[in-house]
Amino acid sequence: MTTPTLMDYDEALAKYEPVLGIETHIELGTASKMFCGCATGFGAEPNTQVCPVCLGLPGSLPVTNRAAIEGIIKIGLALNCDIVEWCRFARKNYFYPDMPKNYQISQYDEPLCVDGHLEVEVEGETYRIEIERVHMEEDTGKSLHVGGSTGRIHGAEFSLVDYNRAGIPLVEIVTKPIVATGEKAPLVARAYATELRELVRSLGVSDVRMEQGSMRCDVNVSLMPRGAAEWGTRSETKNVNSLRSVERAVRSEIERQAGVLSDGGRVIQETRHFHEDTGRTTSGRSKEEAQDYRYFPEPDLVPMAPSREWVAEIRASLPELPAARRRRIQQEWNLSDLELRDVVNAGAVDLIEATIAHGSDAAAARKWWMNELSRRATEQGVELADLPITPEQVARVQAMIAAGELNDKLARKVFEGVLAGEGGPDEVVAARGLKVVSDDGELSAVIDQVIADNADVADKIRAGKVAAAGALVGAVMKATRGQADAGRARELILEKLGAS
Ligand code: ZN
Ligand code: MN
Repeated sequence: MTTPTLMDYDEALAKYEPVLGIETHIELGTASKMFCGCATGFGAEPNTQVCPVCLGLPGSLPVTNRAAIEGIIKIGLALNCDIVEWCRFARKNYFYPDMPKNYQISQYDEPLCVDGHLEVEVEGETYRIEIERVHMEEDTGKSLHVGGSTGRIHGAEFSLVDYNRAGIPLVEIVTKPIVATGEKAPLVARAYATELRELVRSLGVSDVRMEQGSMRCDVNVSLMPRGAAEWGTRSETKNVNSLRSVERAVRSEIERQAGVLSDGGRVIQETRHFHEDTGRTTSGRSKEEAQDYRYFPEPDLVPMAPSREWVAEIRASLPELPAARRRRIQQEWNLSDLELRDVVNAGAVDLIEATIAHGSDAAAARKWWMNELSRRATEQGVELADLPITPEQVARVQAMIAAGELNDKLARKVFEGVLAGEGGPDEVVAARGLKVVSDDGELSAVIDQVIADNADVADKIRAGKVAAAGALVGAVMKATRGQADAGRARELILEKLGAS
C-alpha cells in the first residue's frame, strides 16, 4: 500500500473547497425488533435474541413494528421533514455473513421522511444542514474477527457472527451536500452529529450511544478546486463512532485528498475506515453503485400509509427540542452566549435544571455544578453526570446555605463528604460536625478566649480602631475550624469591646 502525501490543512483549504455529506444510522430503543418479536437489549449472550424471522429462515414472514414507525416519524418531524402519505420498504440485496437473509429490508426511492433541515452552531455562526431523507431499515448482525492484529477480517484466523443485532430497527438520516463551510468543515460535521444526537436523545427514541454503536456516522468528503463548478469524487468513511472522530475524519480526508489531487492523482470513490490511534483513514472497498444492490419493493410487507391524524398526534406529542430548550434556559437563567455554551459543553443542563426543580435558585445551582463539582469531575476524570452526587443533594446543600446553616467553605466540605461516599448532605454535616456556629452562647465563649489571647488587638479596638476587629474574627474562625458565622462573630466582638 502506498502512503499518500498529506497536504497541510491550511494549504489544502487555500486550494480546495470541501463538500460534505453525512449519513447517520441510529438504532431505535424499541422493546422488540423491526419485523419480529425478538428482544433488543444490548450485551446479551450472542445469538440468544433471534428467531426464524430475523435469521431469515425460509417461510418466515416479517411484520412491521408500529413503535419503530412512530419513532422514525418523531425523528422526521423534529428534523422538519415532510412525512409522506404512502411509501414502501425495499429489498437491498447483498451477501454478507452478518446479513443472514442475504438482503436487508430498507427503503430506497420511497423514504418515509423527506426534505428537512437542522440548524447547528459553530463558533457563534449558524449553519443550516439540509436533510434529504430519513428512512427506516433494519440493522445487521455483528461479525467478530479473531486472531488478527487489527480486529478486521484481513489476517484473522476465524470469524464469529452474533445475530442479536440483526433486525433491530435502524433509522438512516441522510443530509444533502453540505457546502460553503470552508475551513470550518470538520467543526460543522461534528456540530451536526452533536446536535442530531441531542435531538434524538430528547425524543426518547434511542439512547444514541456512539461508543455502543447505537449511533454511527458515515462521513462523505470531496474536494473541488476553489472556483470550480463541478464537485470532486467523494470518499465515504464508514461507521465513525465518536463525535471527536467525526471531526478528525473530515480533517484527515481533506488533507489526504488534497495531497492526492495536487500530486496529479484521482480520488477513488470508495469506503474508508477511520483509525482512532493514527487519526487517519485507510481504504476499505470500492463503493457499490445502487444497481449492485438490485433494489426492488419488498414483497413480504404491505406499503406504509401513516394517517394524517396519527402524524398530527405524534407531532403534538413532541417534547421541547434542544434548540428551544437552550433558548429558554438562557433566558430563565440569565446567561450570556458564552455561559450557555459552557453549561451545554459541560453536560450540565439537565443537572442544573434538576437542582432548580429541587428548590435551588438558578445562579447557585449553576455555580456549584460549573465550579466546585466540575473541578472534582475533572480531577477524577469522569463526566459531571457520573459524579456520585444527585441534583437533589446539591439543592439540599444550597438550602442549608440559604438557611445560614452552612457557608460556602463548609458546603465544599459537605460535597467532599458526599462524593467520598459518606452519605447524603445531612449525614455528612452530622458526622463531620459541619454546622455553622451562630449560637451566641457558644460563640461568646470562643470570643472571650480570643480577646484574652489578643489583649493588644482588643485594646486598639477599645480605642476606636474598629478595622482591627478583622484579626479577631479571623482568630474566631480559626478556633471554630471555619464553622463560626463570621458576621455574627464580628457583631459580638464589637459589642463586647464597647465599639459597636
Ligand atoms: Zn427475531
Ligand atoms: Mn443504511
